[in-house]
Amino acid sequence: MGEIINVREIVSKRKEALKVEIINLKKQNIFPKLVVILANKEESSRSYINSKRKLCEELGVIEEEYILDETTSTNEMLELINKLNNDKTVDGILVQLPIYKHLNEEKILESIDSKKDVDGFHPLNLGNLLIGKKGIVSCTPKGIMTILDSIGTEFLGKEAVVVGRSKIVGKPIAQLLLARGATVTMCHSKTLDLKSHTKRADILVIATGVPNLISSDMIKKGSIIIDVGINRVDGKIVGDVDTNGALNYCKYISPVPGGVGLTTVLSLIENLIEIAKNRKN
Ligand code: NAD
Repeated sequence: MGEIINVREIVSKRKEALKVEIINLKKQNIFPKLVVILANKEESSRSYINSKRKLCEELGVIEEEYILDETTSTNEMLELINKLNNDKTVDGILVQLPIYKHLNEEKILESIDSKKDVDGFHPLNLGNLLIGKKGIVSCTPKGIMTILDSIGTEFLGKEAVVVGRSKIVGKPIAQLLLARGATVTMCHSKTLDLKSHTKRADILVIATGVPNLISSDMIKKGSIIIDVGINRVDGKIVGDVDTNGALNYCKYISPVPGGVGLTTVLSLIENLIEIAKNRKN
C-alpha cells in the first residue's frame, strides 16, 4: 500500500526556514517586496492571489497589488511594469495569468525584468533552465522538486514520465528531472498508448487538467506519483489521478488538494527571497 505525501508538513518546515532568512534580510535593511498585477475578472485568479497574499503576510513579506480594469491597454501595463522594474524596493513582479484577451500577453511577460521575474516565465529564465544555467525556476516545477527531494527520491538512471507539455509545468519539470539524471519521456494529448509510457515510470508527473486520466492499471509498482492537476468535479477539487486506485501500486503519491498547489505558492516566496538576497542597495 502506498503513502500519501504529507505536503503540508514539508511546506511547514520550509516556511520556518524562510522566516529566518527573511528576518536576516530585514536586519540588513532589505524588506522583500512582491508586486502582483491582476488584469482579469476570474474568480480562480482572485483566490490564487489571496493565497499568495496570505503567505506573504504570514512570512512578513511586503505584498502590493494592482487590480486593473478592462479599459487598461497593453501600453499602460507596459508603463506600470517599467516603473516597477526601475523601483529598487520591488524584488518580484508577478502578472497573474490569464490576462484580458485584448492585452498582448507575450509582450507584457517579456517586459518584466528577468531578474524580477519571480514566476520564472520570462524566456530568459526558461532558456537558462534549458541550458542548465542558474536562473529563476518557475514555481510549480520548483515545488514539485521540493516534494520529490523531501521524500528522498533518487533520480539517477530512473525512468521519469511527464504527462502534459505546458510551458508552466510539463516542459520545465522535464528539464529539471533531466538535469538530475533521470531518463525523461514527455507525453501529451497526441501521445499514442499513454499507458505504455506511464507503466514504465519510476517517477510520474501528471499535469493535464483531465480528471482521473491516470487509472491504477497505468501505474508501475513502487513508483512515485506527483499529481499536479486541479479539477472541479461535482463541487470537489480532484487531480488527474485516481488516487485511491493508485495507492494500491505506487510507493508515494501527492494529494489533491493539499499537494503541489501548496508548494507552488511556497516556491514563489522562495524565489522572491533569492532575488532579495541579490538586491544591490
Ligand atoms: P495546459 O492546460 O496548458 O495543458 C494541458 C496539457 O495536458 C497539454 O500539454 C496537453 O497536451 C496535455 N493533455 C491534455 N489531455 C491529455 C490526454 N488525454 N492525455 C495526455 N495528455 C493530455 O496545462 P497546465 O497549465 O500545465 O495545467 C495542467 C493542470 O495542472 C491543470 O489542471 C491546472 O489547473 C493544474 N495546475 C496546477 C498547478 C498547481 O500549483 N497545483 C499549477 C499549474 C497548473
